[in-house]
Amino acid sequence: MRIKLPEAVRWIIGELQGHGYEAYAVGGCVRDSILCKEPKDWDITTSARPEQVKEIFERTIDTGIRHGTVTVLQNHVGYEVTTYRIDGEYEDARHPKEVVYTTDVRRDLMRRDFTINAMAYNERSGLVDEFGGVSDLKRGVIRCVGNASERFAEDALRMFRAVRFAAQLDFEIENETAEAICCLAENLRKISAERIQMELTKLLMSPHPQKLRLLYELGLSAVVLPEFDVMMETRQNNPHHCDTVGGHTIRALMEVPADKILRYTMLLHDVAKPQCCSVDEAGICHFYGHPEEGEKIAKRILRRLKLDNATTDAVCRLVRYHDSNPVLTAGGVRRAVYRIGQDCFPALFDVKRADILAQSDYKRLEKLEALDCYRRLYGEIMDRKECLSLKELAVSGSDFIAAGIKPGPEIGRALHALLEIVIEEPEKNTKEYLMRYTLENLFI
Ligand code: ATP
Ligand code: MG
Repeated sequence: MRIKLPEAVRWIIGELQGHGYEAYAVGGCVRDSILCKEPKDWDITTSARPEQVKEIFERTIDTGIRHGTVTVLQNHVGYEVTTYRIDGEYEDARHPKEVVYTTDVRRDLMRRDFTINAMAYNERSGLVDEFGGVSDLKRGVIRCVGNASERFAEDALRMFRAVRFAAQLDFEIENETAEAICCLAENLRKISAERIQMELTKLLMSPHPQKLRLLYELGLSAVVLPEFDVMMETRQNNPHHCDTVGGHTIRALMEVPADKILRYTMLLHDVAKPQCCSVDEAGICHFYGHPEEGEKIAKRILRRLKLDNATTDAVCRLVRYHDSNPVLTAGGVRRAVYRIGQDCFPALFDVKRADILAQSDYKRLEKLEALDCYRRLYGEIMDRKECLSLKELAVSGSDFIAAGIKPGPEIGRALHALLEIVIEEPEKNTKEYLMRYTLENLFI
C-alpha cells in the first residue's frame, strides 16, 4: 500500500527520522487516503517527546503540550505532531487521568477509537495496520479497537463518533460495537454539550445524514436529543404525509445541501409537531401552531447544544416560517422577506423544497409550482433592486441628524416605519419623499 504524502508531511517525518526518531502520518488522513478521499488535515505521530519535537523545528506552537501535541508550522500550515502515547486509566468516562508516553507505535494505535482510525503510514515502513483497519474499510464497518464496552466506558463520546463516522463514510456499525453502544448510551450524559455538538454537526453535515436514525436506534438521542425520539414516535395520519415526524425529518435532511443552517433547520423544522398534534373527527392529524412553537423549542435545543448565535438565530427564524405561504404577489413576497429577514430568506426556498419532497406525493406538483412562483417573484424583486431592508432605504439615521433631529431611539423607530411603507410601495423609496414624509408625520 502506497500513500502519497504532501511535501510538508514528508519533510516533517524526514526531519524527525533524521534525528533518530520514528514518525508516521496517522489517523484520519491515512483512512481518507486509503479511501481515495482528500484528507482535511494531516496528523503525525512520533516517538520524539514534545520537547524534542520543539528542538527540531523552528516554528512550533504548544497546542496540546500536556497531551503530547505540538503544532509544527510549515508554509503557514499547521501540522499536529503528537508523541506516541498510552492513555492511562480513564476517569468519569471522559478524561484520561494521565498521559503516558511510549516508544512503540502499536501501543499508540491501540488507544485510538476505531480500527479505520488506527493506522499509521510512512514511506520507510509502509502501512502499520495492526487491527484490520484496511479490511474494515473495504467492508465498510466501524469497529472498536479492542473490547468495545471497555473502549466506550473509557470515553463515552466514542459512541457518538461511531455514528458520525458511519454517516460520513456510509458505513455500518459492527455488531459488538453497536451492542456496546446500546448498553452504555446513558454514559453520554457525562460528555460536555460542546463536544457532542461538534459530532452532531459533523453527522448532520455529512453525505449521509440519514444515519441520524442510528442515534435513535442505539439509544444515543434519548440521552442528548430526546425531542428527536418523540418525533420518531409520532405518527402523522394526514394526506400530506406518509411517515412519522422523525422519518419525514430524516428525508428532509437528505434533500438540503450540506449547510449547517439548512441541516439544523430541517432537523428541527417539525420539532413541535408531537406536542401540537390534534386529531379531528375523521381521524386526521393536524399540527396547528407547530412552526411558532417549534421556534421556541429549537432555540432551547440549540442553546443547550451551545450552537453559535448566528446559526441559532437563522435556524429559529427558518423554523418559524418554514410553513408559511405568502400571497403570491410582489407585495406579499416583499412582506415575507421583511418578516423573515433578508439575510436568511433565500435559504427558505431550500427548506420549503426539501419539506415538500419529504412529504407524500399528494398535491406535490401544485406545491412545487407554487414554490417556483414564489421564487420567481423574489427573483424579480431582486432584479428591480427593491428595498427589503433598512440598509437599502433611501434615507439613513444620519440624514435625520443632519436635518436637525436629535439622535435617539426615535430615529430607529422612524426608519422601521419608513421601511414598512416602502415594502408596500417600493416607488416611495426616494430620499425626497421619505424625508418629507418623516418630517411631516413622524417627528411632531
Ligand atoms: P476528521 O476527518 O473528522 O478530522 P479524524 O479521524 O481526523 O476525522 P479527529 O477527531 O480529528 O478525527 O481525531 C484524529 C484521530 O485521533 C482519530 O483518527 C483517532 O485515531 C484519534 N481519536 C480522536 N478522538 C478519539 C477518541 N475520543 N478516542 C480515541 N481516539 C480518538
Ligand atoms: Mg482530524
